[in-house]
Amino acid sequence: MSKPMTDETPARSIRLLAIAERIDRMPLTIAIRRGLALPLPLIMTGALTLLLRYPPTAAISRLSSQLFGPQFDYLCDSVIAGTFGIGSLVALFGFAYALTQLHNQRVGYRFVDPTITVVVALSCFFTIVAPVSPNSSASLMASLSIGQGLFQALLIAILSGSLFLRLCSVRYLRIPFNRISNDTLVGDVFTVLPAAMVTVLCFVVLKAMLVWVWFPVLQTVQNALVASPVTQLSNSLVFGLAYETATQVLWLFGIHGPNALYAIQQHVLAPAADANVRALASGATPPFIFTFDFFSVFARMGGSGGTLSLIVALLAGGRTRHGRKLALFMLVPALCNVNEPLLFGLPLVLNPVYAIPFILAPCVQVLIAWLAIVAHLMPKAGYSVVWTTPALYSGYAATGSFAGVLVQLLALAAGTLIYIPFVRIAEDLARRKGKDVLASLLRVTESPDGGQKLKRCLDLPGEEGRMAMALASDLHSAVDAERQMFLEFQPQIDSRTGRVFGAEALLRWEHPSLGRVPPPVTIALADDVDQIDRLGMRVLTLACRQRVAWRDRLPDDFTIAVNLSPRQLTNPRFHDDVIDMLHREQLSPTLLELEITESTVLLPDVNTIGNLRRLREAGVKIALDDFGMGHTSLHYLRELPLDTVKIDRSLADVKPGSVNEHIIRSIAELSRTLNLLLVVEGVETERQLKSLSALGCHRFQGYFFARPLAAGICADFVDDAHRESRFAMQAGDAFIVRNAR
Ligand code: C2E
Ligand code: MG
Ligand code: MG
Repeated sequence: MSKPMTDETPARSIRLLAIAERIDRMPLTIAIRRGLALPLPLIMTGALTLLLRYPPTAAISRLSSQLFGPQFDYLCDSVIAGTFGIGSLVALFGFAYALTQLHNQRVGYRFVDPTITVVVALSCFFTIVAPVSPNSSASLMASLSIGQGLFQALLIAILSGSLFLRLCSVRYLRIPFNRISNDTLVGDVFTVLPAAMVTVLCFVVLKAMLVWVWFPVLQTVQNALVASPVTQLSNSLVFGLAYETATQVLWLFGIHGPNALYAIQQHVLAPAADANVRALASGATPPFIFTFDFFSVFARMGGSGGTLSLIVALLAGGRTRHGRKLALFMLVPALCNVNEPLLFGLPLVLNPVYAIPFILAPCVQVLIAWLAIVAHLMPKAGYSVVWTTPALYSGYAATGSFAGVLVQLLALAAGTLIYIPFVRIAEDLARRKGKDVLASLLRVTESPDGGQKLKRCLDLPGEEGRMAMALASDLHSAVDAERQMFLEFQPQIDSRTGRVFGAEALLRWEHPSLGRVPPPVTIALADDVDQIDRLGMRVLTLACRQRVAWRDRLPDDFTIAVNLSPRQLTNPRFHDDVIDMLHREQLSPTLLELEITESTVLLPDVNTIGNLRRLREAGVKIALDDFGMGHTSLHYLRELPLDTVKIDRSLADVKPGSVNEHIIRSIAELSRTLNLLLVVEGVETERQLKSLSALGCHRFQGYFFARPLAAGICADFVDDAHRESRFAMQAGDAFIVRNAR
């Protein structure tokens, strides 16, 4: 099992966590994340094709062209064009769609069909990127690719999407055309027509400003840069760090850093690399430290951001199985320095949590390699290597020395140490978010649903539905995993005898990455995915097996109570299955009590009543759980074959003269008349205990005595309670409870 996660977050990271959490929940951030996730299948396919197209060694390259002929490269290029090549467009689509979905979920906002926002954003995008001079289709294609056009596409999608949705809410720009057609989409399109047209018009104005003002300025700056030769920068540490920082900052916004700074590569790094190769060939010492190969080999292990370090950090320092799985998945492309899956999958792009290490780690790696060179511990990079050459080998290939490999190892370790705290922060953030979503799932499962047992969790919109889906798919294998699904036992005490007469078995699911899943959520999910019979029978078997294991330690009449879900009872074979199980486990039926809830029992269901009757005839006890929770019907007391009534904890808080006091007194009297045992749940204080005892209740379950306990601790609790007479009675209604846990 993965290490249990603690709630302790280092104080220094709490502030960062709070800021990151706030950013993380902004609709814009959520929409960007979803937008970046959409091209992932394309990115994975593109990344693998990239490795085939540009293999790490010339030998592999030769082999593939011998095997497949020159057409192979064209085929790879086509795949790259169909994947990476349209990545920006797909991200734009995903963002605009998600932003509109989130807009529609907010209360008070007018509904907008998400596809209309996509269409508007696409139109604005092409208005901006359409070439302004003839024969520049190459620049148009670049705008669509994930490597070169992503930032631009997202920026346009953010501006146009936000503007359009805002305009859609302006009353004067909405035309009530929705009755024009029976088709709702057609009506929706007509309604927001003016808003869409105004948005596109705004981008036409923006394009005009770019063409007349911005492009000429940009051209002048570029010409000035190209005119000045700056090769001598290649030995300046300030240049090395500044270049690396700039590429990383650009990457952070989804812009391919080295491509965006191509002028530097062309005028500084590539000439420096050529000079080094020439010097080595003529037997001289290479003159330059910072070359194109230096950055590929020492600062981009795993791809930009030194992301191989992030993968090692996820594997070695991550605390969730999910993170480790993700890292393993990304490992192969990252070893060959392809990191798009991480950039857009994790994602790293536009992710505030990873911004610092994403910039810092490669800069520290640059510093380490620079120090090794100036201290003459490692030769300068003098051999040209293909950028897909696997890390650690590339250190040797570029320098011709094993010192290159050692420096890479050191840089990898330093990068990993930088990434680890941020991996933890990201995990804490995900865990807190997970807990919030779980809490809201719990609220849904606990809310009355009018008896309609539909798929309560799986059909929920938003994060809740998504988490329900993920949990439901984990549930299948978790049911049989002992370390994930197990039982805890909460003792039940009789205050008149001071004895612990039984325990209620409560289901626990310790999810590997989310921690404890509340039992009502587990049950509702199992119900949704038709696993309730399997899960219910597993709980019953485990509880009975535990009762048998306690045979020599606990009193002979100690009962074990197990909760049932209504759906289990509608199965006509249920009573046979239970009797068979009791037989197999060799447990007397009289030691088993089945708890049914009045809120969920399906009356009048012939199977339910039949199952309960037959089980009771066999000696199994039946308890009505959560009595008085708000669905109370005395009808149940008459219709169902019962032994025990358990009063819900919402009634356990009795104050003198309160309504609860009257209700409890009446239930106590009624249960005496009907010859039913009465147990009060959720007793938390001595005051409650005394008041309830005065009202004629004597059997209790609650935190005042004990919380649900692991099996071994529960048996110790019973032993101690009986040996020390811990719950001994005193004269009158009052009694003392010594050392109650
Ligand atoms: P329940 O059957 O009414 O179980 C009692 C719940 O109240 C347990 O919550 C228990 O931990 C909690 N509780 C007990 N004493 C106190 C107290 O003094 N104060 C407070 N605040 N709470 C107290 P838990 O374990 O979270 O279970 C919640 C519900 O989930 C159960 O309510 C039951 O309806 C359902 N459940 C649990 N295990 C199973 C199972 O194996 N099968 C089915 N079908 N339902 C289960
Ligand atoms: Mg119960
Ligand atoms: Mg209950």
